[in-house]
Amino acid sequence: MMKHLSIVPMTLMRPLVTWLVASVLAVALLAAFQYRAGLSELSNWARQTDTLLAEKLAQHDAHMTALAAVIRMAPDEPSASVQGLAESVITFYPRITDIATLRIDGDVAHVTTYGKSTGPAFEENRVASELPRLGKPGDTATRPTAGQYTYDIYKLVEAGRFLRLRINAAGLLDFDRVPPEYSIDLSLGDAVLFTRTADDTPILSATTSFSVSNPGQPLHLRIRRGISLGELLPWRLILPLLIGLAAVVWLLEQYRNASRERRRQERRAALLEQEAQLAHAGRVNALGEMASGIAHELAQPVAAMLSQSQAARRALTINRHDILEQALDANIREAKRAGDILGRMRAYISGAEARIEKVPLAEALAGALRLVETDLAQRGIALETTISDRPCIVAIDIISFQQVIHNLIRNAADALAGRAEPRIRLAARPEGYGTVITIADNGPGIEPAALDRIFEPFFSTKRDGMGLGLPLSARLIEKMDGTLEARNDGGACFTIRLPSGGDA
Ligand code: ADP
Repeated sequence: MMKHLSIVPMTLMRPLVTWLVASVLAVALLAAFQYRAGLSELSNWARQTDTLLAEKLAQHDAHMTALAAVIRMAPDEPSASVQGLAESVITFYPRITDIATLRIDGDVAHVTTYGKSTGPAFEENRVASELPRLGKPGDTATRPTAGQYTYDIYKLVEAGRFLRLRINAAGLLDFDRVPPEYSIDLSLGDAVLFTRTADDTPILSATTSFSVSNPGQPLHLRIRRGISLGELLPWRLILPLLIGLAAVVWLLEQYRNASRERRRQERRAALLEQEAQLAHAGRVNALGEMASGIAHELAQPVAAMLSQSQAARRALTINRHDILEQALDANIREAKRAGDILGRMRAYISGAEARIEKVPLAEALAGALRLVETDLAQRGIALETTISDRPCIVAIDIISFQQVIHNLIRNAADALAGRAEPRIRLAARPEGYGTVITIADNGPGIEPAALDRIFEPFFSTKRDGMGLGLPLSARLIEKMDGTLEARNDGGACFTIRLPSGGDA
C-alpha cells in the first residue's frame, strides 16, 4: 500500500503555515516601522542641523556688520581697532579662519589681513575685476574659495572697500555629534565645500536635502542616512517577536481545536437526540400498523386462559384436584405469555436507550418476525425464511434490530401491493467473521434512478411516504457496527451485515 510520507505531520502543517505567514508579515511590518523610524530620525536631525547652521550663518552676518562699522571708522590701514576686533572674533569663532579688507586701486585690490596673532599684514595684491560686483555699501556676496572646505563672504563697506570673511565650512558642523551612518555633502552653488561618506554598506538609505535659511550665504546640505540590515531587523526584537507569534498561533490553534471539538460534540448530541426522536416516532407509527398483529397474538393466550378457566371450574364441581391444578398451571403460563407479548410491545414503542447485547440470531429474528407475520398474512404475502442451523450470536440492540427488520419487511410488503404471488424471502447465514441477513422480494425492484438516493433522509417515491425508514435503519445498523446495502435482484434485495457477537 502507498503511504504518504511527510516530514511535518498534517496536524502541524496548518499552524506552521499560519506562523510562517504571520512571521513574514510581522517582520515586514517591523522593517517598515524601523525604516519609518530611521526616516523620522533623519528629518529631525535635518531640522536641528538647519537651525544650528542658520544660527552660525547669522553670527557671520553680525560679525561682518560689526567689523564693517569699525573699518568704516578707520580710514587708514592697517588699523589697530580692526585688528583688535578681528582677533577676538577669530579666537572665539575658530571656523572664521581669515578676516581681510580689500581696497580697490584701479585694476588692483590691495589685501590687508587681520586677526592673526602676528598682527595685520599686507598680502599680495589681487586683480580687482575678480571681486564680486556689489552695488551699494552693505551688500554681500558669498564665494567658494579655491581650497577645499572654505568659502568667502564679501561685504562692500564703502565705495572701493571690501571686507572679506573666510569660513572653514567643516567647522560649521560638529562632526563628533554627527551619527556615523550619515553621509553629508555641504555645497555652495555648484561647488562642494566638503563631503563625508559613512563607512557602512547599508541595504536601504534615505536622503534629504535643504538650503540653509540664510539668503546671504546660500549653503545647501544633503544628508543621506544609511539603514543597515541589523538596524532594519534587529535580532533582539525579531527573536521575541517570532517566539511570541508562535505562542499566539499555538494558543489560537488550541482554542480552535477546542471549539471545533465542542461543536462536534454538540452536533453529535443534537443528532443523537434527533435520531432517538425519529426512532421513537418510527416505532409509534409502526405500532399502528401492528395493532392487528398484537390483537392476534394476545387473542391466543386470552382464549387459552378462558378455556382453561372453564375447565378449572368444571374440575371444581367434580372435585378433581389434579385437573384443577393443571388448568391453573396452564392459566399461569398463558398469563405470562400475554405479559411477555405486552412487555415486548411496550419495550418496542418506548424511547428506551440503545443497549447492545449478545443474543442468538435466530431468537432475535423470530421476535422481529412475530411483529410482522400477522400483517403479511392479512395482505396475502408469503414469507419464506431460511435461517442457518449453525448457532450464531450477534451483538445488537434488539429493539433497534427488530425495528430495522420491520422497516425492510414493511417496505417489501408495500412494493408487493397488487403483485401476483407476492413473496418475501428472508435468509440469514454466517459469513466470514459475521452474519449476513438478506430480505428480498419479488416486487418491481428499486427504480435505478432512486437506488443512489433511498438512504437519503426524506427521499420517498410513495405518495404518503416519509422517506425516513431506510436512513434510520442504516443508522441503527451502523450503530451496531454493521452495514445495510440495497440492490436489485429480480425485486429489491436488502443486505444487512453484522459483525460476530462472539460466544453468548
Ligand atoms: P418510505 O417508505 O417512507 O418511502 P423509506 O426510506 O423506507 O421511506 O424508503 C425510501 C424509498 O425506497 C421508498 O419510497 C421506495 O421508493 C424505495 N424502496 C424501499 N424499499 C423498497 C422495495 N422493497 N422495493 C422497491 N422500492 C423500495
